[in-house]
Amino acid sequence: MSAPRRLEVNEVWKSYGGDLYAVRDVSFVLEPGEFLTLLGPSGSGKTTTLMMIAGFETVSRGSIRIDGRDIADQSPEHRNFGIVFQGYALFPHMNVAENVAFPLRMKGMGKRERLIKAAEMLEKVGLEGFAQRRPHELSGGQQQRVALSRALVFDPDALLLDEPLGALDRKLREQLQIEIKELQKRIGISVLLVTHDQEEAMMMSDRIAVMADGGIVQMGTPADVYLHPATPFVAGFLGETNFLPGLCQGASEGYVSVKFRNGEIGRARPPRFGGVPATGDKALVSIRPERVRILKPGETMDSVIEGRVVSGTFLGRHARYIVEAEGQQVVVSTTEWSEATAVPPGTAVRLGWSSDDAQSLADVKV
Ligand code: ADP
Ligand code: MG
Repeated sequence: MSAPRRLEVNEVWKSYGGDLYAVRDVSFVLEPGEFLTLLGPSGSGKTTTLMMIAGFETVSRGSIRIDGRDIADQSPEHRNFGIVFQGYALFPHMNVAENVAFPLRMKGMGKRERLIKAAEMLEKVGLEGFAQRRPHELSGGQQQRVALSRALVFDPDALLLDEPLGALDRKLREQLQIEIKELQKRIGISVLLVTHDQEEAMMMSDRIAVMADGGIVQMGTPADVYLHPATPFVAGFLGETNFLPGLCQGASEGYVSVKFRNGEIGRARPPRFGGVPATGDKALVSIRPERVRILKPGETMDSVIEGRVVSGTFLGRHARYIVEAEGQQVVVSTTEWSEATAVPPGTAVRLGWSSDDAQSLADVKV
């Protein structure tokens, strides 16, 4: 394996005509050996971004560079990317070994050498016994492993994956997520993945770039974007959260104080961008259900609000309470649940959280 390269996407825009932009001002760097995911809902510009990198779409504005060199004038065949796209199928008339060796044939490698390389690659994905099979004689998961082998066999600068596991059932998808991640670490390749599945993104990525309306809203490690979202969109797209609206009461010691609907005050981290809100500004605080606690009598935390339990449901791995507080329903998720300690509906409770687990949001429309 040759050393992976640095892929740089620099202020890239894409218009398919007119002044509607499918991709707007997207910039990021895929560092050598990194696993970066573009995560966003359908239509947010993920595939278009990948297509421009692969060279199947032109760039309207901006540049794409490999190790600092602009690749705008290189055709897709001359760019050195491994690609597994949705619907980018295996060749049905070729066996597995021929499929995997195909890119090497295109590069003019001799038959003997390319079949040796293909066999080595198939061994890495656990398909050494399948070289002579035709694609239709393989399961969906095996076909995706062959597609991955074909994308990796020629030492690409990076691997580009567009929803590669979308057609597989959940169990198989999770298994392949682990396999791909493991393979990526073992061979040290850079991966750029496109997905709308937040769990897949969390599970596989070193960093996630969250996309909406053609642009990147926030980029960071899975823990950073999950625990400290920048906007209501990011907070809501990456799993479940509670949104508590209120008015900013000032900032101190690196936190903001927010007065909620019932006049109680909670503390939260300041917004990720847009600056610290001024006193009296509208504020919106995001707190994950698993970061809010029902406090025991006498127990206290940085922020405490009062409420009343509406319902409690045991769900196996965790229990989920709905609590009426601050004029809305607050979801509390806990793994500390037993039949003896379950809090019955109608009970007056105090909810608490640590200031670091509450994130006030920017771009707030309340
Ligand atoms: P995603 O992969 O995030 O679902 P896409 O990149 O496929 O999003 O699409 C982004 C936007 O660009 C969408 O509004 C889509 O309708 C539009 N779009 C994509 N491909 C074309 C095309 N070939 N012609 C015109 N519009 C397109
Ligand atoms: Mg897409």
